[in-house]
Amino acid sequence: MAYDEQNIFARIIRGELPAIKLYEDDQVIAFMDIMPQADGHALVIPKVPAVTLLDLPPEAAAYTIQIVQKVAQAIEKALDAKGIVLMQLSGEAAGQTVPHVHFHLIPSSIHQLGRHAAQMGDQEKIKTLAEKIKAQL
Ligand code: 5GP
Repeated sequence: MAYDEQNIFARIIRGELPAIKLYEDDQVIAFMDIMPQADGHALVIPKVPAVTLLDLPPEAAAYTIQIVQKVAQAIEKALDAKGIVLMQLSGEAAGQTVPHVHFHLIPSSIHQLGRHAAQMGDQEKIKTLAEKIKAQL
């Protein structure tokens, strides 16, 4: 699939849209999901333009997963998470709604996940959770 430079995450990477950020470097950005499936739902995205995991350059995938691990460790500590679901949807057929590759970190059980991208979360609550997670990064 051709990469859409105007997708929401491309615009967040360029700083054109706001996000509640957790972490950023020259290759990766991590921020809170706006429609969380559980408290503490975060997203980690490589900055390289790729739609799915399948077209992400392996070096970018390798680096991104290191940041996924770092953010997961921070979520575990900050929220005393007993388990974290790592989710990656590649392709609309899998349920992907934003066409820029991203990794979901959801402190929850697979059996208790809320509906996907269904309901806006409380922004103040999300900000408070983000501060706790950032303090552990
Ligand atoms: P996907 O369906 O592509 O795997 O996941 C996209 C995720 O991005 C969903 O969990 C959805 O809640 C989240 N999302 C959609 N739009 C925005 C936005 O503008 N900002 C943030 N932070 N998250 C978004």
